[in-house]
This record gives sequence, structure tokens and C-alpha cells, in this order.
Amino acid sequence: MFDNLSEKLDKALHVLKGHGQITEINVAETTKEVRRALLDADVNFKIAKEFTNKVREKALGQNVLTTLQPGQLMVKIVKDELTELMGGDAEGINLSGDPSVILMSGLQGSGKTTFSGKLANFLKKKKTKNPLLVACDVYRPAAIDQLHVVGEQIGVEVYSDRENNDPVALAKAGVAHAKANGHNVVIIDTAGRLAVDQQMMDEIASIRDAVQPQETLFVVDSMTGQDAVNTAKAFNDVLNFDGVVLTKLDGDTRGGAAISIKSVVDKPIKFIGTGEKMDAIDVFHPSRMADRILG
Ligand code: GDP
Repeated sequence: MFDNLSEKLDKALHVLKGHGQITEINVAETTKEVRRALLDADVNFKIAKEFTNKVREKALGQNVLTTLQPGQLMVKIVKDELTELMGGDAEGINLSGDPSVILMSGLQGSGKTTFSGKLANFLKKKKTKNPLLVACDVYRPAAIDQLHVVGEQIGVEVYSDRENNDPVALAKAGVAHAKANGHNVVIIDTAGRLAVDQQMMDEIASIRDAVQPQETLFVVDSMTGQDAVNTAKAFNDVLNFDGVVLTKLDGDTRGGAAISIKSVVDKPIKFIGTGEKMDAIDVFHPSRMADRILG
């Protein structure tokens, strides 16, 4: 994960190794390299600039207060700032409803259906949860089939109704089915499009208004870099979602989306997808991700 970025940051932070003290000159040199590494990883220009400004300020300000070597101090500052940028403390999902409704949003191909299955599987393993998956993509029969395949794999019931082509009515019927059958979590998989369009946004907003989910999650493919951030912004403007799911972090992603998304939409990344299999899901912890990035 993020091999290229890790390598470049390591190189940048090496500048200070062997230096006896932090000076304006070696800090400037280091932060310039850190900025370059972030830009190469597809981090938005403004974010990269703000980030390195903060790192510089901290490095110059803390110098006299620490017993750490300059190299170690810089690693610590960059790690702390990366953690902050990606969201500070880890946040869970709200499962206080009866049933708790979790609505998935995102573009087609982002990994919504796969993630719906992963989350159902993840919650099912906590013995107190009995999830129901609801198929609300009325445009692509293959999407309904796919959710059924996923449901069978993990042993979770899937609610669908191929006769019903009203996604709002379907979502409501899914929640009613959950209530009637003792499911305490409902995960609603919705239709995506290849690009942001008004009809999709109106539809998902109508579903949200109808079922009042405890959690609306935005699912995005981390490999799409700055596009991921722009799409997140477009969805958040309409849905004011609760959290982000970053998928395909096992792939050849440069890491820009993971680093930028929180500061653009001010919503936490809650989960990551790290593979196609049903157990390839992790709760997102900003500090652990910062550790991974810094190697
Ligand atoms: P949807 O259209 O948003 O429902 O997307 P899908 O769930 O159908 O996923 C699109 C493709 O991405 C499928 O081939 C999935 O197997 C794949 N996929 C989803 N999540 C991940 C992930 O975390 N890692 C990898 N490598 N592939 C994933």
C-alpha cells in the first residue's frame, strides 16, 4: 500500500538524519521534499501546501523542547500531521436504530455492492447483529443478482423485488421486511452511475429522506485519486453523508484520496476495502494509516 509515497517520504525525512539540529534551511529542504512526495501521490495542491506549512511551523517551534534527534522529530511531526489530516481519532458507525439503517451511495464500480456484503459479514460476526441486505438498483438486473451471490456467500438474507422499479418504495419495503423478520441492521445498496448526475443524486436523496438512515456512507474507489475527492464533494453537497468508505486500497493507488478526502468534505473515513473477498474490510484508523504510509 502506498509504496511509492512511503519511499519518497522516507527519502525526504532522511535529509535531517545526521544533522545535529533543526535549522530553517534543513527544514525548508525537508518540507519541500515532503510536499513533492504528496503531490506525486495525487494529493491536492492546496492541501499539500497547508500540510507542509504546518509541519514547518511545528518543526521550528518545537526544536528546543525535545530530546529527539532532528530526524526522529520530523518523522513524529509528519506522522502526527498526517493522522490529523486523515481524521484524528477513529470513528465507528451509528447502530443505535431498531433496525439500524445504513445507506450506501457512490458511483457505479466504486465497490458499493461488494462493500455492502463485507459490512454485513463484518456485523454478522458480532453475534448481536442480524443484518439484511436490500437491493435497490432497479436499473441493472445484474446488480440484484450480484447482491444475491454476495448474500449467499456470507449467509445473509437479501431482500429484492424485481417487479418493483421504484427505488424509494423498495427501500421502505426492505426496512419493513427487516422489522417483520427480526433483522436489527438493514444495509441498502443503491444504484450508481458512471459519473455524477442529477437524477442519481435526486434518487438517493429521496431514499435517504424516506428511510432516515442512521448512517449514510459514501463509497469511493481510492485508485481514482483527485476524482475521488471531487466525487466525494459532489455527493456530500447533496447528501451530507456521515462517513466515507475507501475501497481498493490493495491496488496500485497512490494514496492521494486517503490523505485528502477528510479535509475536503470534513467527514471521517470509516472503513477501507482491501480486496475483493468478503473479509477484506478494515475499520479505518488514521494513526495506523499514517504509520503505514511512513513505513
Ligand atoms: P458497485 O458498482 O459500486 O456496486 O461496485 P462493485 O461492488 O460491483 O465493485 C466493482 C469491482 O471492484 C468488482 O470487480 C469488485 O470485485 C471490485 N472491488 C470492490 N472492492 C474492492 C477492493 O477493496 N479491492 C479490490 N481489489 N477490488 C474491489
